[in-house]
Amino acid sequence: MAVLLVVVTALLMRERIVEIDVSETAARVEKLRGLRFEDAPVAFRVSQETASSGVWSVPEAQRAMLELLDLVAPGESLEDDGGVWGAAVHGENYIVIADDGPRLGPLYESIVAHELTHTLEDQHFGAYETEEMSDDAATATAALTEGTAMLVERDYADRYLGGKRPDDGDWSDGWLGREYRFVYEEGERFVAALRDQGGWPMVDRALASRPPESSEQVLHPEKWRAGEEPLPTETPLVNLGPGWKRVDRDVWGEWRTRAIVGPRLATGWGGDQFELWRRGDEHTLVMTWEWDTESGARALADGLRARPFMRRPGAQLRHAGARVNLVLAPSDAVAARVS
Ligand SMILES: [Zn+2]
Repeated sequence: MAVLLVVVTALLMRERIVEIDVSETAARVEKLRGLRFEDAPVAFRVSQETASSGVWSVPEAQRAMLELLDLVAPGESLEDDGGVWGAAVHGENYIVIADDGPRLGPLYESIVAHELTHTLEDQHFGAYETEEMSDDAATATAALTEGTAMLVERDYADRYLGGKRPDDGDWSDGWLGREYRFVYEEGERFVAALRDQGGWPMVDRALASRPPESSEQVLHPEKWRAGEEPLPTETPLVNLGPGWKRVDRDVWGEWRTRAIVGPRLATGWGGDQFELWRRGDEHTLVMTWEWDTESGARALADGLRARPFMRRPGAQLRHAGARVNLVLAPSDAVAARVS
């Protein structure tokens, strides 16, 4: 969440910021989470517009890549229009709740519990600098912190609200919905697995010093426990010629690989790296996966070969040993320049 943005927006819109009393919910959250607030949290009610101001968006470069991989249709919206109910502000002692939150009735309280969990954990563990991480690792870290908030939200609903929760599973079928599902649903599953094994202390350990390093670790908590790190992977040398500029280089991860070939073929992910290049309106994607086993890599390659993008000119797939290399270029001539 972009933090100050929320308050700045409220000020700009000359909105009346109303403080709400959340002390009872905060005391319950402390009990459920087994941690005490170092400073009593404060909550403000703001407009839906203001609460949504820090919400996710998909960068332009990623959009081009998603289109190359047939993961979004040209023109498909990547704006989140679902709205938000609340937000916690990292490094600050307050949460904001959207003023249409109360339409949720008693469930509104579970949103407050969710956001307060963020504040509570922020006071104890701080936040990670995700700028330095790969995109996959940053998303995995978000799954950890959202996962704990979701789990406390569930415990809260079970204990105090007769098990009712807001319908968080109401994500869109599109790309953004998939991303949310990972962070919230897979995140909750991951944290629940840690807590089942080692109680909150194991979750605390993850928050304090060992956030998951990949979506692979979130999807397979045993790999987090075993400390199975992503394999360092490098794309081949890309020299596309004059006018071409690299606009992105990052890790795609097991979760997003699932979006391409499904969960079964994506299992066995060891590591990956992609580069996205641009010249004018044209894009070239170069993506290299390192697999845990050679047979798994062969299955991945077969799965990729069956995708519609492989029938376009400029699509090239190479597979050797446990490594699979995909090039999606505007033409075969451009694809041939990837060594
Ligand atoms: Zn949250």
